[in-house]
Amino acid sequence: MAKKQFKAESKRLLDLMINSIYTNKEIFLRELISNASDAIDKIYYRALTDENLSFDKDSYFIKITPDRENRTLTVSDTGIGMTKEELEGNLGVIARSGSLSFKKEIEKDEDYDIIGQFGVGFYSAFMVADEVTVISKALGSEEAYKWVSSGPDGYNIEAAERDSVGTDIIIKVKKSDEDENFDQYLDQYRLRSLVKKYSDFIRYPIKMDTVSSRLKEGSEDEYEDYTEETTLNSMVPIWRKNKNELTPEDYENFYMEKHFGFDQPLKHVHISVSGAVSYNAILYIPEKIPFDYYTREYEKGLELYSNGVLIMNKCADLLPDYFSFVKGTVDSEDLSLNISREMLQHDRQLKIIAKNIKNKIKSELLSMLKDDRENYEKFYTSFGRQLKFGVYDNYGMDKETLQDLLLFYSSTQKKLVTLDEYIARMPEEQKYIYYASGETNERIAKMPQTELVADKGYEILYLTDDVDEFTINILMNYQEKEFRSVSSDDLGIEAGETKTAEEKAEDLELFAYMKGKLGDKVKDVKASKRLKTHPVCLSNEGAITIEMEKVLNTMPMDQGIKASKILEINTKHEVYSALQDALANDREKLDLFTSLLYNQALLIEGLPLEDPVEFSNRICELMK
Ligand code: ADP
Repeated sequence: MAKKQFKAESKRLLDLMINSIYTNKEIFLRELISNASDAIDKIYYRALTDENLSFDKDSYFIKITPDRENRTLTVSDTGIGMTKEELEGNLGVIARSGSLSFKKEIEKDEDYDIIGQFGVGFYSAFMVADEVTVISKALGSEEAYKWVSSGPDGYNIEAAERDSVGTDIIIKVKKSDEDENFDQYLDQYRLRSLVKKYSDFIRYPIKMDTVSSRLKEGSEDEYEDYTEETTLNSMVPIWRKNKNELTPEDYENFYMEKHFGFDQPLKHVHISVSGAVSYNAILYIPEKIPFDYYTREYEKGLELYSNGVLIMNKCADLLPDYFSFVKGTVDSEDLSLNISREMLQHDRQLKIIAKNIKNKIKSELLSMLKDDRENYEKFYTSFGRQLKFGVYDNYGMDKETLQDLLLFYSSTQKKLVTLDEYIARMPEEQKYIYYASGETNERIAKMPQTELVADKGYEILYLTDDVDEFTINILMNYQEKEFRSVSSDDLGIEAGETKTAEEKAEDLELFAYMKGKLGDKVKDVKASKRLKTHPVCLSNEGAITIEMEKVLNTMPMDQGIKASKILEINTKHEVYSALQDALANDREKLDLFTSLLYNQALLIEGLPLEDPVEFSNRICELMK
């Protein structure tokens, strides 16, 4: 019989798995046990919610059986099983939801550490197996089926025998060689310690027949072997355990086992609440951004249990969007098992839990910010953007919750600072919280508009993320201090007036002429109060800043929104006398200068020139 072919990407993945140099091959056992536990969760839930089904409590278990002679290791479960179609559908393709982006990564990079990055479930068995056999009988089905594969060249499915509902995964363990000891996966002590290490908190018993020896009855010195079925795991779910009994490794292993992420979480939070609503939860703040985080595909949510029974993998209602990076598990006795997704949204208990969790996450982040700045900055680099979106979302409804968690780069401190820290350093006479926007910190530092504020010694927050200015706009103020862009028309700084009335009149004639030449391109041409060394810059009047114009213009719904721009001229700069001179003697030259200065201001701002060729031609004119 011809072998059935794996879907292309699965084949590729299998290839990688078999030839894997991944050192942590032992995790395959955790993956298989976790699948077995999920399968039992499913049947357990069905039995609890379907009157026609009933099982004995003892009928839920996982059993691992090493067989040294035949070099097989079997992981059996009494879970929900798989039909023939499910065997094909689940094991013939990569089941993981991120498989699309995943495939891209594989194509990009031959040595990509997929296992480390994603954990690949069932397929990880191929790291230690020459051949994998799955025998399964699904709930409600009369027949059992057998799926066999020895790698990428395909698999076979045929009818098989199995007494009861459930699944056996039979691994033909590879031969040991100089590089790798595979025999360990046939050794009962080693297997026991792997279960302890990775799967101790699995809710169902993980059993193994262990062989020990004892004194023969009636004998004083003769021993005999006997076999005894023992349970290897403690079975108490980690969230029910006392915090004092748990080590950081326990929390990390749980994070890995649940596939919450493949980084080391920055922080775990263990919550046990009893009162009006009782619940236990373990939450994690990851360090790294999941590969699909800032895409539509990313699904937020916490795993939700009702008194130890899994009711939902990702309960979105437990997390606000701005904390969507949080991973974890929540278990409450106060939730009904039969609750539907729609009902859950309106459930009063769930709302209380969600609120509680939100507050807890916030206070944990704040304490991290206070006591563990280095890690907080790692966190912020990954997820700060999400917090800023959160401030901006829902018309700023949550800004109070989030504003103390924000960080921005500071011109004077040369590092990320909180708004609180900024305020604490403000000199008494400083009216506003100043900020400047641009592509990078280096570019902002060179912006002519920052000159006056920086010269005053005032701190400037550098905004480099496209969401930043929108966030600042929604915040409006912090501790009663308003935010002010260094490009805004009123900086609240007295620049000191030194001009005579006569000089001012000359200014006015020049600026009126230049404005006439530029037409609608600018709202006005003015003498600058903020420039010190640079000849020219743009500033803006009104709510839309130049940086916002740039962001809005990259959006698909571009509505041609423009900032109202002011061309500012530095009247203390040499160029200014050249302009005055041209006004008096050579209007054609003044036209040329006006156009050049305007285009220079656009360039400094990072705005596109309307006509680069003309700009270049005009510079050549100057050279003649
Ligand atoms: P994941 O568990 O992340 O979905 P896997 O590749 O490990 O990915 O498994 C693919 C699917 O195969 C699972 O989602 C599940 O539906 C099914 N499966 C795997 N192992 C078992 C098992 N022991 N019993 C029932 N179904 C299983």
